[in-house]
Amino acid sequence: MRAGTRWITSTHHSAHRARRDGAGGGKTHRATSGGVKPTPTIDPETAQRDRALDVLIVGAGPTGLALAAQLRSFGIRFRIVDRSLDRARESRALAVQARTLEVLQSVGLADALVERGNASVRLVLHFEGGRSAEVRLGGFAAADTRFPFILFVSQAETEAVLASHLTSYGVSIERGIELADFATDDGGVAVVLRRPDGHEEHLRVQYLVGCDGAHSTVRKRVGIAFEGDAYLQDFMLGDLEVDPAGAVALEPNALHSFGGRQGTAMFFPLGHPATWRVIAMSGRAMSRSAPTTLQRDAPLASDLSLSELQAVVDGATDGGVCLRAPVWLAHFRLHHRQAARYRDGRVFLAGDAGHIHSPVGAQGMNTGIQDAWNLGWKLALVATGAADPTLLDSYEAERWPVGRALLRYTDRIFGVFTRSMSSSAVAAWLRRSLVARVLPRVMRSERVRAFAFRFLSEFSIRYPRSPVVTEGTPALRKGPRAGDRLPDAEVARSGRQTTLQRELVGPCLHLLLCGPLDAWSAHADAIAELSTRPALVAVRYLTRSPVPDALVDGSGVALARLGVRETAQYLIRPDGYVAYRCDGPDLTGVRQYLDRWFPSRRHPVRHDGGEQSG
Ligand SMILES: Cc1cc2nc3c(=O)[nH]c(=O)nc-3n(C[C@H](O)[C@H](O)[C@H](O)COP(=O)(O)OP(=O)(O)OC[C@H]3O[C@@H](n4cnc5c(N)ncnc54)[C@H](O)[C@@H]3O)c2cc1C
Repeated sequence: MRAGTRWITSTHHSAHRARRDGAGGGKTHRATSGGVKPTPTIDPETAQRDRALDVLIVGAGPTGLALAAQLRSFGIRFRIVDRSLDRARESRALAVQARTLEVLQSVGLADALVERGNASVRLVLHFEGGRSAEVRLGGFAAADTRFPFILFVSQAETEAVLASHLTSYGVSIERGIELADFATDDGGVAVVLRRPDGHEEHLRVQYLVGCDGAHSTVRKRVGIAFEGDAYLQDFMLGDLEVDPAGAVALEPNALHSFGGRQGTAMFFPLGHPATWRVIAMSGRAMSRSAPTTLQRDAPLASDLSLSELQAVVDGATDGGVCLRAPVWLAHFRLHHRQAARYRDGRVFLAGDAGHIHSPVGAQGMNTGIQDAWNLGWKLALVATGAADPTLLDSYEAERWPVGRALLRYTDRIFGVFTRSMSSSAVAAWLRRSLVARVLPRVMRSERVRAFAFRFLSEFSIRYPRSPVVTEGTPALRKGPRAGDRLPDAEVARSGRQTTLQRELVGPCLHLLLCGPLDAWSAHADAIAELSTRPALVAVRYLTRSPVPDALVDGSGVALARLGVRETAQYLIRPDGYVAYRCDGPDLTGVRQYLDRWFPSRRHPVRHDGGEQSG
């Protein structure tokens, strides 16, 4: 055993040497009883070969697949394994938020997803007594995004798009392979994978990422607490078809909400594998004070019948709709829990392994994908030696507070929602006056809708206190600050229409030099020095006049969104956030920033695939 190796647990049985291209293999070892920790023995030849494996992703749900897509774009060596033999076919998460589309755009997947989904922007609120009101959820003419909407598409479709993207690049999603055990030390992680027939494979990786869901093996084995609790209410879910049965006709391509004393039902325009997803809860269940149908820790049970769901939906819609042709029916229980930490040395948690909460606002899967996007580029650049390893500290520093805020607000909104749907007189008044009369009026305000959209879309997530972002001097007064998302805007490049995000978000850092080209010519040497490694730092110009290969902002909208008066600099991270910015053409600050976080800029960098050093 290597000095300092720390085994998290011991669950081995007889092992079998298994090999796979580029990774795996190792000597067998047997678990011992009586508290003696097993010794992982890895032969030198195997250890040497496996050192080439940078990252092991455990779990091929949306978080793991998104992480794999980003690591693939950097050309680093990784594997992705999942214990289940097939990908999940149930719809589960059904809303993809605009920020998720923006990050998936950087690997060319957003348009494929939009094609499969329903870009609905309307919410129809149906009230007791047959009244209804409409709330628009997006569609802002001036929005700084290509995706000013919420995309309704099933999680199964989102996973399918990610999986076929990976497969098209020759990445194998290794199913039927379970993470059985692992041990960390200063030099890496020794891992044991197990197949359904009990065969074990030993390998060594630099980093291990647990994208293995709410019951995360990784989280449990490093002993990170999953703090929080289960909600008391049971919900019902159905993916199905709907016929009008009374006065209610569900207009397609809109989200419909019914709420009253008898219960609540939300209909989402799913499209595939069924036209509608309904989530319902009876009024009785809302006032309930103890877990009922489900065990406290069982999130999902497929024992729901169509007639049971119909009865609850009848209560909410006053018998207005008839449910038929279900493809998925389930009871489910909600939890609000967060991992106490997202990192333990070389081991990371992302997605549901780190946080679960109520589906208010449809944030769960989206937050997992954003976790993956935040972590992926950092792992890629550190694993290849391009970045200072302390860059990895910023993952937890940036993403843990996002998870905590998410739990807080989903918990509050969920509390208000369940109380407002109870059968009390106060709740009935709230529904009649506040929700029925005030909310639609408030939501007519463009400002309020823009605020709501930015919040739901995850555009408002910022990392201003991150240790790896810097506001340089002279300071820029306007535009996105260091740690903010890069806003999008239309520009042209070599006569072709494109956008800022399309040009500046990808598998390297982008240094954007804004303003007339003349202003930069006096700094040509400094610029040349910064761009000696285009695989790590690519330099782009943003200017109003047409210059070959520059990003041309004829309308001035892009420069205005960036708050540029004359000249300014923005360093954009591979996840589309501003790493560094300042006013003026002096490049000293950005060079110091790059030297601090990417010292290898001046030295050869190992890239095992795709990217070449400049
Ligand atoms: C009924 C339901 C409705 C939902 N609705 C919404 C919604 O409307 N909006 C929303 O945003 N979210 C919703 N969610 C939540 C959303 O589905 C999750 O946030 C999302 O699946 C999290 O993705 P993940 O990749 O982090 O984890 P998961 O999807 O749970 O994937 C984890 C993967 O890890 C694998 N795994 C686990 N342990 C191991 C191991 N030891 N070795 C190898 N593999 C392992 C599992 O097989 C699994 O494939 C819903 C969830 C449910 C159940």
